[in-house]
Amino acid sequence: MTSNDAMPPLAGPVLHDEIIAARAPWDRIVRRGQTLRIIDLEGNQAVDFLMYRLDDDAERYSAQDTVAAQGNIFLRAGSVLLSSEGNPMARVTATAVAHHDTIGGACSCESNTLRYGFHTKAQHACVENFLHANSHHGLGKRDLVSNINWFMNVPVEPDGALGIVDGISAPGLYVDLRAEMDIVAVISNCPQINNPCNGFNPTPVRVVIAGAAD
Ligand SMILES: [Zn+2]
Repeated sequence: MTSNDAMPPLAGPVLHDEIIAARAPWDRIVRRGQTLRIIDLEGNQAVDFLMYRLDDDAERYSAQDTVAAQGNIFLRAGSVLLSSEGNPMARVTATAVAHHDTIGGACSCESNTLRYGFHTKAQHACVENFLHANSHHGLGKRDLVSNINWFMNVPVEPDGALGIVDGISAPGLYVDLRAEMDIVAVISNCPQINNPCNGFNPTPVRVVIAGAAD
């Protein structure tokens, strides 16, 4: 582990430790009780995230249920991430970032061309990453639901519009999720270069899974 006084020790042995390259997809099974730590290595990197129940992937993360249950749009330490069946899938046990987003959605070629112009059509986007990762589990486009954007700052402006502004993360900051059921965790290390969500420069992140082995 990198030395970072703000990062609490992980409970249990490290089972997996990997760098996700800039712009890349990633997926991994995380068992109940294990902790998935995501580290924003260089700062201001949006990490788009989905999760599915391992033994029944019809049950998956629900941003709507999570926001409604906690009465707040931001994810913080203590947030319980609920499924489409209202069951806790994971809990944010610790994070060094003030808040994370779950309403901004994932970037796509379609939204890029609408927002930033047709010249962006061929740029790689989070939807392609999610489709690639989900293909390992027999999931397709209809299985993409509203996601989490770890480390991303999406304030709601006074007129109700969503802002995508400079990140509030910094090099070495982290978020810890403890799985409350066996899940497939899916990440798109966001390739977006047309807005400040990645500081216009996508960078690698690190994922560590710790806890009792399967
Ligand atoms: Zn993206």
